[in-house]
Amino acid sequence: MDLTRRDFLKLSGLTSSGILLSSLGLLDLLRPAKSYAELLKLKYGKETTTICAYCAGGCGVILTSIGSKLINSEGNPDHPINQGGLCSKGNALFQIANNDRRMKDVLYRAPGSDNWEVVDWDWAAYEIAERIKKLRDSTFIEKDDKGNVVNRVETLAVIGSSPLDNEEAYLVSKFARSLGVVHLETQARI
Ligand code: SF4
Repeated sequence: MDLTRRDFLKLSGLTSSGILLSSLGLLDLLRPAKSYAELLKLKYGKETTTICAYCAGGCGVILTSIGSKLINSEGNPDHPINQGGLCSKGNALFQIANNDRRMKDVLYRAPGSDNWEVVDWDWAAYEIAERIKKLRDSTFIEKDDKGNVVNRVETLAVIGSSPLDNEEAYLVSKFARSLGVVHLETQARI
């Protein structure tokens, strides 16, 4: 084989780089990465189809579990609504079962205070009910300016967010409307 000086330098450079990487144990890093998580899911996981509970979109989801542990959620490509796609919230669906960082206590910050304190659930429920009643009683509008019966409260607002599923959002809206609340919104992405 005819080697030019340039070929020789390139070859010796590559060889010495290979020896150096090999001696440092770095050649392994250049090999294609193997996904053990994927292997675990495919080999041992049990798939179950379901519907995302977050919003009225009703996207189809495939859940994968090993024993009683949910390990993955992904869009169902066979579902006619989403055809495999999920929004970011639906994509993180399996965290519902695995997230142990949920707040479990009621935190209360008194007017003017800069300090949040843990309060009792019963105290919080009673306090909220009392404040709602007081505000509703003092600001309830029975008739509008033209004498039409409206029976509404404009000083209260209710907003639901992603922790509410469809059924809970339905109940919250029924409750709010029974009070006369007109400023009512539920947005699944907040
Ligand atoms: S929250 Fe997202 S994934 Fe779930 S149903 Fe609605 S759009 Fe689909």
